[in-house]
Amino acid sequence: MSIVPEAERPNPYSAYGAHGSVLVLNSGSSSLKYQLVNPVGGEAIAAGIVERIGETSGGSQGIVTHTFAGNRTRREVEVPDHGEALRLALGLFEEIGPRLADAGIYAVGHRVVHGGSEFSGPVVVDDDVVARIDALVPLAPLHNPANVQGIRVARELLDDVPHVAVFDTAFFSSLPAEAYTYAIDRQVAAEHDVRRYGFHGTSHQYVAGKVARVLGRRVQDLNTIVLHLGNGASASAVSGGVPIDTSMGLTPLEGLVMGTRSGDIDPAVVFHLARNAGMGIDELDRLLNKRSGVLGMAGVNDFRELRRLIDEGDEHAALAFDVYIHRLKKYVGAYAALLGRVDVIAFTAGVGENDTFVRAAVCEGLAGMGIAVDPERNTGAGSGERIISPDWTSTLVMVIPTQEELAIARQCVEAVDGQHPTAAVTSG
Ligand code: AMP
Repeated sequence: MSIVPEAERPNPYSAYGAHGSVLVLNSGSSSLKYQLVNPVGGEAIAAGIVERIGETSGGSQGIVTHTFAGNRTRREVEVPDHGEALRLALGLFEEIGPRLADAGIYAVGHRVVHGGSEFSGPVVVDDDVVARIDALVPLAPLHNPANVQGIRVARELLDDVPHVAVFDTAFFSSLPAEAYTYAIDRQVAAEHDVRRYGFHGTSHQYVAGKVARVLGRRVQDLNTIVLHLGNGASASAVSGGVPIDTSMGLTPLEGLVMGTRSGDIDPAVVFHLARNAGMGIDELDRLLNKRSGVLGMAGVNDFRELRRLIDEGDEHAALAFDVYIHRLKKYVGAYAALLGRVDVIAFTAGVGENDTFVRAAVCEGLAGMGIAVDPERNTGAGSGERIISPDWTSTLVMVIPTQEELAIARQCVEAVDGQHPTAAVTSG
């Protein structure tokens, strides 16, 4: 499909500037999320999601939702694979808008979960890059296959614009060796690429940069703990714009308690269950990634549901919340020790941006460390960047909505323009 702007058609998006718009794609195992982003102004021009890809057996249909100019269109159709999912999405752009030819697409950005030690910044995709991402599948068997598939079909269907891969691991590629090295036999580690990579890097980098801009400070002068609390959750310690530690590891399983993932456990739990519960590797993988975390403890993984259960007196829900907060507090304390001085704690993502109980509980009892949350500021109206700590604390506690698609779009522009990959991500 051609998406080169047609000269004779007036271009309503010329206001987006020389870089036009960027189509950001996030391919999951059974979903394709997309957003058309203005990398200059930062707004989402249109967005959508194709769900239940490949799950059309047994009468269940795929679902496509497309939002443009305040109108939401929802369709149920058969979506056998990612190619069909993207074809459907492109069809909705034509039918409902905005027409991609009018939107002046500058690049297509692909969110890729694992870049291993190979990729430390965004990269313009060619056949060699696809092969290298594919070669990383052993490190991310749950994520990279869908990412590769998404890139392959998008390059076929949108063959006249550059495609850029933006890696969740890239921001953390500069972690110091003492933070990324696991204390295991060094030959085994080297042979099998076993080390901490870290994930959600695009979000951690964006939020750390945004904190500085909101405060009118230089990112080089700030020590920030970023708490990305979504369905997946991770913490990072960022000193002067550079990460010095992060909670996710070889895979996104390590660290904080998450919606469905256990986060940190004694690795011997795996041996114990394999020996005594007869669980195989795949079953253990599913247990720890899909059936653990808040879901495993409380039966729900959405924090709005969790709150409802707590309010009804459900003791499993109350314990799940306590375990979640206990783990978060440990990471805040550990990262405070690593940073030496904490200027800002920034909450972001679905839980971090919305759950006032989580934010209050994490900071409760930390006044001695100069950390506190002001109840009114915490629960007050507002959805943008804001400070929720009282005036007397040495550490600012902030809520910073993450904008991963925008950050990806800006990294795409930089990669295509051949600029330094990390320069402008923190600038908007
Ligand atoms: P994310 O992965 O960043 O999209 O976050 C999704 C999660 O955010 C959901 O599973 C909920 O647990 C949580 N969430 C979203 N909205 C709210 C809300 N208004 N209050 C509490 N938690 C929320």
